[in-house]
Amino acid sequence: MDVEMLSRKERRAYDFVVKSGAVTRARLKSVGIEVRFANSLVACGLLAWDGKSYRDAEKKAPEAKEEVTEATGGCLCGCGAELAAKRRFAQGHDAKLYSSVLKVARGQAAKSTLPATSATVAYLRGAPWMTAEIRKAIGL
Ligand SMILES: [Zn+2]
Repeated sequence: MDVEMLSRKERRAYDFVVKSGAVTRARLKSVGIEVRFANSLVACGLLAWDGKSYRDAEKKAPEAKEEVTEATGGCLCGCGAELAAKRRFAQGHDAKLYSSVLKVARGQAAKSTLPATSATVAYLRGAPWMTAEIRKAIGL
């Protein structure tokens, strides 16, 4: 299918998506373009639909940008170490956090010694060694 063969409305949808990069259905509607024109462009291979947005089928999808927003921002043990993407702990610091948690659970350290960031709390809730007893003791 050639771009020159598109109807005027399909062409408008095509140009808009190509110009904008990635376009959601809501964005299309907001500029008065009907989603069905974009869908027919997907059907003929001019646009790609990734479940969230339309883009130029010729262009590669950007490499998973979302990971950046999910970065923890640092080691979950609370030491402040900066980590490479996708890493939760600096080397050996998962054990350090585990030991801190046990100390609190045994009453040997104050609860305030544990990092209270949402990322750490989320990790602790699903930690492989977490037990109902420890959870209760540290107030999770
Ligand atoms: Zn650490």
